[in-house]
Amino acid sequence: MSQIYDTCVIGLGIAGLTASLYLLRQKVNVLAIGREIGGQLMKIPHIENYPGVGVVKGSDIINKILGELYKYGFKFIIDEVVKVEKVEDIFKIITRSGREYYSRSVICTTGKSPIKLNVDGEDRFLGRGVSYCVICDAALFKGKTVLYVSGSDPHVEFSLDTLLKTCSKVYWIPRVKIRDVEDRYREYLESGKLQILDNCNVVKIDGDVKVRRVLIKINGELKYLDVDGVFIEIGYRVDTGYISHLVKVNEKGEIVVDELCRTSVDGIFAAGDVTSIPYKQAIIAAGQGAIAALSACEYLSKKYGLKIRKVDWSIK
Ligand SMILES: Cc1cc2nc3c(=O)[nH]c(=O)nc-3n(C[C@H](O)[C@H](O)[C@H](O)COP(=O)(O)OP(=O)(O)OC[C@H]3O[C@@H](n4cnc5c(N)ncnc54)[C@H](O)[C@@H]3O)c2cc1C
Repeated sequence: MSQIYDTCVIGLGIAGLTASLYLLRQKVNVLAIGREIGGQLMKIPHIENYPGVGVVKGSDIINKILGELYKYGFKFIIDEVVKVEKVEDIFKIITRSGREYYSRSVICTTGKSPIKLNVDGEDRFLGRGVSYCVICDAALFKGKTVLYVSGSDPHVEFSLDTLLKTCSKVYWIPRVKIRDVEDRYREYLESGKLQILDNCNVVKIDGDVKVRRVLIKINGELKYLDVDGVFIEIGYRVDTGYISHLVKVNEKGEIVVDELCRTSVDGIFAAGDVTSIPYKQAIIAAGQGAIAALSACEYLSKKYGLKIRKVDWSIK
C-alpha cells in the first residue's frame, strides 16, 4: 500500500474546496480529487444569495477560495473517482485513469449534474450548440433559432424569458405543462417568435461542426427543425455510483447525512448538493463542506490521535 492520506476530498466544487480549506488549516494531510475545478459555480454568470459578496460571477467566489487554499499549499488531482472501497479501516479510492489512492477518511462532495435527453448527437454537440444552462449560454445565441426543452424546474419561465429576449425564434418542448402559458406569452405566440411543440420528443441532434438541426417526433410523425442551438433543462441528478455500495443513499441517490455531515459509514462524510439536505445553494454547500471537514478531524483525532485545534464556540 502506498502513501496513506488522512482525508481524501472527492469533488472540487465549493463544498470540496471549503472542506479542503478547513482541513488544511487543521494541518490534515489532504488529497483532493475532482473532474474539474469549481463545479457548478464556474458556469453561473450571476450568483445571488451568497452573503457578503453581492451579485458576482460564481467563478469569482471560486477564485477567491483557491487563493486562500494555495496559501496553505493546496494540492489537487484532476481525475474522476470511479470507486471507493473499504479495506479494513482504510479507504481505497480508484480513479478513471486507473490510479489508486489510500485514505483514512473520505469526504464526498460530488454535487449534481444535468439530466440528459440521451439522444443521438447530444454528447457530440455539447458546447457546440447543446447547452444545459440557459442563463449561462443564451448570449451565445443572440439572433439565432433555438430549441428549448424544459422540465419541472422552477426557473423555466426565467429561462424562456431570457431566450425570447435574446434569440430570434424559440421552439419550446415543455415536458411538464405550465399554467397560463397562452396568456403570458400571447404576444410571442402570435408573432411566431415562440412555437410550443406539444406531444413532441427529440430523436436526434444533427449538424457538422455545430448544431444545424434536430429530428423531432411530433404527434407520431418524424420531422426536421433547423436550429442553431438546443437548450436542455429537464432537471439534475446526483451520481453516487462510486460509493453507493458503501453508504446509505436515498431514493434520489443522494448520500444520507446527519447534521454533522456523517454518513452511515464511520470515516465517510459528505457535503453539498450530493447530500440528502434539500436546499441546494452555494452557501449551504460551503457550510456543509466546513462541517464535514471538522467532523472528519474529530474522527481522525479520536481514531488516530490526530492533533486538532478545536474550532467550536458552543456552550460547554
Ligand atoms: C444554473 C444554476 C444557477 C444557480 N444559482 C445559484 C445562486 O444564485 N445562488 C446559490 O446559492 N446557488 C446557486 N446554484 C446552486 C449552486 O451552484 C450549488 O448549490 C453549488 O455550486 C453546489 O456545490 P457543490 O460543491 O456541492 O457541487 P458542484 O458544484 O456540483 O461540484 C461538484 C464537483 O464534483 C465533480 N464530480 C462529480 N462526480 C465526481 C467523481 N466521481 N469524481 C471526481 N469529481 C466528481 C463535478 O464534476 C463537480 O466539479 C445554482 C445552480 C445552477 C445549476
